[in-house]
Amino acid sequence: MVKENGTILITMNINKVNPATLKITDMRFADIDGAPKRCTLMKLYTNQGLVGYGEVRDASSRTYAAMLKSRILGENPCNVEKIFRRIKQFGGDSRQAGGVCAVELACMDLCGKAWGVPAWQLLGGKWRDEIRCYCDTDSEGGGRDMGAALKARMKMGFTFLKMDLGIELLTNVKDALIAPLGYLEYMRKMKHVVQTPHGSIDPRAMRGEAFELFTTAHGHTGIHITEKGLDYLEKYMADVRDVIGWEVPIAIDHIGHIPYEDCVQLLRRLEKYHLSWAEDVLPWRNTEQWKHLHAATTTPLGTGEDIYLKENFKPLLESHALAVVHPDLLTAGGMAETKKVGDMAEDYGVQMNLHMAESPIACMAAVHVAAATRNFMALELHSVDVPWWGDLVKPALSYKGGFIKVPDKPGLGIDELNEKLIKKQSCADFPQPWASTKEWDREWSNDRRWS
Ligand SMILES: [Mg+2]
Repeated sequence: MVKENGTILITMNINKVNPATLKITDMRFADIDGAPKRCTLMKLYTNQGLVGYGEVRDASSRTYAAMLKSRILGENPCNVEKIFRRIKQFGGDSRQAGGVCAVELACMDLCGKAWGVPAWQLLGGKWRDEIRCYCDTDSEGGGRDMGAALKARMKMGFTFLKMDLGIELLTNVKDALIAPLGYLEYMRKMKHVVQTPHGSIDPRAMRGEAFELFTTAHGHTGIHITEKGLDYLEKYMADVRDVIGWEVPIAIDHIGHIPYEDCVQLLRRLEKYHLSWAEDVLPWRNTEQWKHLHAATTTPLGTGEDIYLKENFKPLLESHALAVVHPDLLTAGGMAETKKVGDMAEDYGVQMNLHMAESPIACMAAVHVAAATRNFMALELHSVDVPWWGDLVKPALSYKGGFIKVPDKPGLGIDELNEKLIKKQSCADFPQPWASTKEWDREWSNDRRWS
């Protein structure tokens, strides 16, 4: 028996659990920092000592999950679909979906543990025993420097690459960008203010004018790339290819908020480098623009990390604009919904890759979905440069050789969390991991959506 913040936890013994009478009794959180993003880890407790692990989307708010607590207390977590349908109305685009998804993950973990099967088995079985990973790669300097950084990833065993290629690279290149005078300088200044040293976002700084600036949509910034800017980015890409060679697949992200017409010009320039996909070049809701962009260039297009629910992927798939869907489990609607997104994409001849910038809890959940989805290609790792990241769970998560082994243990395959490390990495705003959330027990509204 372990006592944790007043709650008695019985050491897990799955043979003694009766899935038929399992009930959710509590929900608690631990926020960590520096992973490199801020991550909100969640535990769902039950009446039989079994604890399920979930996670809210990176750089999101625990409130999205906490407000669901009173709505699921007393429910049997094995009824994952029933619980998901109950709370689905409280999710939204991007981080707003974080609470619903965290609950779904924890229920899948509990269900697997209660019935003694890995989560991939709950999703219909597996297509593969190890999951190909790719990692975000940062680099200062030019294309050859980026090429060297990517080459180092290849030496680690990574067989698939992604890098940023966009207007960020042009902000200090003379005559590369057009913008209302003073705007680029203002952007540089604000970016410096909102970014923390370890690559996350300072929530206090991201309020007010910074929020307005960084959420201005692509077509509304007034930024355009000049011929010189296009030349620079094309040369950058050529230098990268020169260093990494032509065999390894590479995708690009963070093109920047530029209008549709500029995307056409840039992506046409990049066609000859045969990218795997260009990511989030337009707001995901602008289906017609995606359709026209696809008609204008042979560079493959991908999006999805901010899309909640299968039904919101459908218009884009029906438009046939995408080569790749790129959902994040913690936004798409959790494990089962993401698997459904992948299956639907398969019907349209579209590949699935997974966005993931969270802790090993979300990563393990993604591994199960990746194992169970046929048209999956690669899973994103965002924390390869954070040495302690894999140690947040026991057994420690290993991606040695660029692949993660699909576990055979029940649920997510995590024995326990590394509580010492979680305490050490606690976010300053939430210094006490797994503190009581009693204040949410009486949250209520008449949730019916029709009368
Ligand atoms: Mg992205």
